Amino acid sequence: MWGILTMKRCAYCNVSGVKFTKEHIWPNNLIDKFEDLLTYNPRNENFYKGDPVVKDVCGPCNNTYLSKVDAYLAGLFDSHFANYVEAGQSAEFSYDYNALLRGLLKISYNSVRSTANEKQKNLLAKYAKQILYGGVFMSIMVRLQIVTTSKAITFLGHEIGELMPDVLRCAVVAYDGRLSNRFCVRLVGFRSYWFYLIISYKNEPRHIWGEFAEGLENWVTPMGVALDSTKSKISIPVDKTTWITPTLLGKLAGDLEELKL
Ligand SMILES: [Zn+2]
Repeated sequence: MWGILTMKRCAYCNVSGVKFTKEHIWPNNLIDKFEDLLTYNPRNENFYKGDPVVKDVCGPCNNTYLSKVDAYLAGLFDSHFANYVEAGQSAEFSYDYNALLRGLLKISYNSVRSTANEKQKNLLAKYAKQILYGGVFMSIMVRLQIVTTSKAITFLGHEIGELMPDVLRCAVVAYDGRLSNRFCVRLVGFRSYWFYLIISYKNEPRHIWGEFAEGLENWVTPMGVALDSTKSKISIPVDKTTWITPTLLGKLAGDLEELKL
C-alpha cells in the first residue's frame, strides 16, 4: 500500500506508471523569443543560463492539454507582451479570462514545484484539473500592473538611455499587509504586463476579500487593477501604470523562483 502512495504521479492528472515528459516552466514558444535566458535558483541564490524544466508531467497532459494553454499565451505575447508600454502611455488589454488564468496558474504551478514551498505547491495543485480542462476558478483574483519603460538620467540631468522591463518573471510576492497570512500573492510578468495572482488558502467571504484588496492597493509596491472575470477588455490609464526601476526589479529578488532576461 505504501509503495503505491509514494509512486511518481503526473502533477496534473495524477496518473502513475507511465513515461514522464519534460515540461518547461515557461512555455517553450515564449522562451524562444528571449535570447539570453537566465534562471534564478533560490536554493543557492545564483543565476544560471538555461531553461528550467520539471519532469513530472505525463505525455497526454503535456502534449494535448497544456500545449493549448501555451498556445494561448504565445498569442498574447504576439498581440500584447512583445511591445513595451512606453512611459506616459496608457494600455489596452484584451483577454479571455479563463484561458489567461489557466496560463498564469500553469506557469506558477510549474514554478513552485521546482521549489520547497509545500504550502503553495498544495494550494496550486488544487487547480491542476482546471488548468488542464478549464472550468470556473474559485477563490482567485487576478490583477494587471503595467510596468512602463523609464529614462535613465544622471545626477546632472543627462539622459543616458532607457530602462526596459525585459523580463519574464515568476515569483512569490512577500506581501506583508493586512490579512497576508490568509492569501497567497504571486507574480507572473511578461515585459510590461505584470499579473498578480491572489489566491485565498481557504474560502473567504466577500468582505474579507474586500479588506484584503484594500490593503494591496495601498501597499509599497503597486499591484495593478483587478481584471473582471465577466469582461474581455480593460483600459489601464496612465496614473495606474508604474515604471521599471532597479528597486522594483530588486525588491522581490529574495523570493524569485525564475527570472529570465
Ligand atoms: Zn497527466
